[in-house]
Amino acid sequence: MTSSIVIAVPKELAPGEQRVATVPDVVRILKKSGCEVRVEHDAGAMAYYPDAAFTAAGATIVPDRDALFAGARIVLAVQPPTVAEAEQLPEGTIVVGFMNPAGNLEAIRKMRDRKITAFALELVPRISRAQSMDALSSQATAGGYVAVILGAEHCPKFLPMLTTAAGTIRPSTVLVLGAGIAGLMAIATAKRLGALVEAYDVRRAAGEQVRSLGAKFLELEINAEGQGGYARELTAEEKVKEQEMVSAAVARADIIITTAAIPGRRAPVLVTKETVATMKPGAVIIDMAAETGGNCELTQAGRTIQANGVTIIGPKNLPAKVPFHASQMYAKNLQSFLTLLIDKNGSLVPEYTDEILTASLLVHAGQVRHQPTRDLLEPKP
Ligand code: NAD
Repeated sequence: MTSSIVIAVPKELAPGEQRVATVPDVVRILKKSGCEVRVEHDAGAMAYYPDAAFTAAGATIVPDRDALFAGARIVLAVQPPTVAEAEQLPEGTIVVGFMNPAGNLEAIRKMRDRKITAFALELVPRISRAQSMDALSSQATAGGYVAVILGAEHCPKFLPMLTTAAGTIRPSTVLVLGAGIAGLMAIATAKRLGALVEAYDVRRAAGEQVRSLGAKFLELEINAEGQGGYARELTAEEKVKEQEMVSAAVARADIIITTAAIPGRRAPVLVTKETVATMKPGAVIIDMAAETGGNCELTQAGRTIQANGVTIIGPKNLPAKVPFHASQMYAKNLQSFLTLLIDKNGSLVPEYTDEILTASLLVHAGQVRHQPTRDLLEPKP
């Protein structure tokens, strides 16, 4: 009889990271499929999954990384490994998690040299069959929710309309720029809080989804749907038209949530500093694109600033602010992904032939398998 696969879950060490890559309910499922699960002491503490809950689900709690990695075949993580972590991983380990391919080249080089196998969740194709593994979507959903809560917290107004003995309060207007996964969740959340919601996206297909949530879709004579359902970059002329329309909507908003992104590129600037100057005092911008350059010209990643009475927040890692549910969703994504790696007999699949595995395989057997990352690491002369 072969021994069972050991799956190891480290405590996340990145500053501000409160999530954990697995949760007790998923441990139970992994155990049923014949795996052994090891969890580093306090790995789930910041997400309110205590060690005792993992133990009750059948996991073994270990005190440190050495005990965690010894004999482990698969490591499940949230944040990309650092160079130091890549050095700690035993040769041949399979790591699954976010990898930030373009922004973590030294650690990827280290994993390549140490013959680690790394699957990047960012590279899971967004096809129907992979929906249950789509961690970009689950975490964007968490982020979109938190963005609205953060906006409401900083807004000096009520969001809903109120009719009280002390007078009638008009509802606040929330503007959502970029109606992808995070934007749609932001729209739904702001609607639930009773705000008037307007939204805009360059993809015309987003209009129907925005309207189905009861929000107003701002129409522009542009349809910039690019490859794979993502947006393409606008032409210079289109950008001018967009700025004009966005500026008018920005001026009437109390809270603006910006989520606009183009894969592999700097986030488009939708709110210029001149536009900020036209905003209402007390208005709030939550710039979810802060880490990729920001949708507002004045955004500073990781900081909250004031400009002309407008609060501009450039949050980092919003999903970590709802760590309980963000971890639960992430853990389900990973469990689903693992069904491609572990067969019905509880053994590792011998070859990575599944299209989801081949697309997300970043490093394997001493080679960087993802072409764009390889081009960055090993530029041709
Ligand atoms: P994203 O994070 O890359 O971008 C966020 C949004 O910003 C997108 O809706 C994009 O159109 C928009 N945007 C880009 N430039 C803009 C601009 N200049 N002005 C206004 N908006 C701009 O996207 P995402 O949220 O990850 O998802 C994008 C698409 O992928 C959606 O169509 C979504 O339905 C689709 N998707 C499909 C699946 C699936 O089929 N399994 C899963 C997830 C997402």
